[in-house]
Amino acid sequence: MYMKPGVGVKDIIVSDKLCKGCYLCIWACPWDVFEISKERNWRGVKKPVAVRLDQCRRCRLCEFYCPDFAIQVIIDEEEEKMLKEVEEKYEKPWLPRVEERDRIVKEGVWWLED
Ligand code: SF4
Ligand code: SF4
Repeated sequence: MYMKPGVGVKDIIVSDKLCKGCYLCIWACPWDVFEISKERNWRGVKKPVAVRLDQCRRCRLCEFYCPDFAIQVIIDEEEEKMLKEVEEKYEKPWLPRVEERDRIVKEGVWWLED
């Protein structure tokens, strides 16, 4: 799904307590949203700051790559509502099939056993 830049992103929060300043999130972001803060926080870390929030596509790669769960992309309520609707409409109907697939995979490994 194409995501328009900046739409539906409310904020990107980086935790003072958890961020260690490895900048993997900056490396991972395909849309150049972050810059390194000029100031050090109370832990001596120059945190990444989402200075170009309008470029964010909410792909969440920054969250995914952060080894310390220190970063969180906050999406706005409208966006959240839309995602829930998409989940209801397109993902829920697939659930029984996913469960069935898991069952078949589980039972189907007989040929791997001796
Ligand atoms: S990847 Fe996580 S720990 Fe590393 S700079 Fe980004 S927020 Fe901080
Ligand atoms: S959600 Fe994607 S585009 Fe937005 S800041 Fe994170 S990595 Fe960059």
